[in-house]
Amino acid sequence: MINEILVKTALSHSKLPGLDYALNPYRGCQHACVYCYAPSVIHWGQGKWGDLVEVKVNLPRILSKELRVKKKGIVGLGTVTDPYQPAEKKYEITRRCLELLLMHDFPVCIQTKSSLVLRDIDLLKKFPNMEVGITLTSNDDSLRQKLEPGASSVEERLHALSELSKNGIKTWVFLGPVMPYLTDVEALISTLSLVKPGYVLRDKLRLKDGVKDSVLGFIREFYPHLTEKYETILAEMNITS
Ligand code: SF4
Repeated sequence: MINEILVKTALSHSKLPGLDYALNPYRGCQHACVYCYAPSVIHWGQGKWGDLVEVKVNLPRILSKELRVKKKGIVGLGTVTDPYQPAEKKYEITRRCLELLLMHDFPVCIQTKSSLVLRDIDLLKKFPNMEVGITLTSNDDSLRQKLEPGASSVEERLHALSELSKNGIKTWVFLGPVMPYLTDVEALISTLSLVKPGYVLRDKLRLKDGVKDSVLGFIREFYPHLTEKYETILAEMNITS
């Protein structure tokens, strides 16, 4: 389900390393990743994560005003949502925000799991300071389908990385979260050597509030033989299931 909403602010200060601002064109995310911790960050109280996305339809207008007065800084596009989730195909909020950020010469760092980013290559190429990060959790697409059901396939993401690089856009890969007993890190790294991202960031599985139930439910449903192992990991982390 999609709801259109109005917002009062666009840029927020970001504490994430390397970013000054966060800009999130949507609230909610249709990619519905099992390990997503955004619901707890944004205090999502609107049902199952992935079922509803709120589209900030007036965001470009608010951003346009803010960019005239804000100190220049690196904008992280999509810190608690994916800026290229399916709704973006119709609404183009991310694209319109990019046009404004380019006009005001703000550096941008995008993180996505969608090959829809290729639609905006014409725009991305014009930024003097642009980085696009693609997240990969596995090179096994059957695992990806269960873990990140609404996102692009592994093959589409690798193709996106390769096309972005070919067009002179700096790319990076977020390798994570590494799923214990499921992510074959070595295989993934050797796949990445074919598309040659600028750099790779690797992250472990973070079982923050709300995530543990979702991850355990996923393991029980699709990989029941790993349930005990995941419960042990939780126990070692002092997180009770
Ligand atoms: S793409 Fe990112 S924001 Fe969207 S569900 Fe997955 S982890 Fe959460």
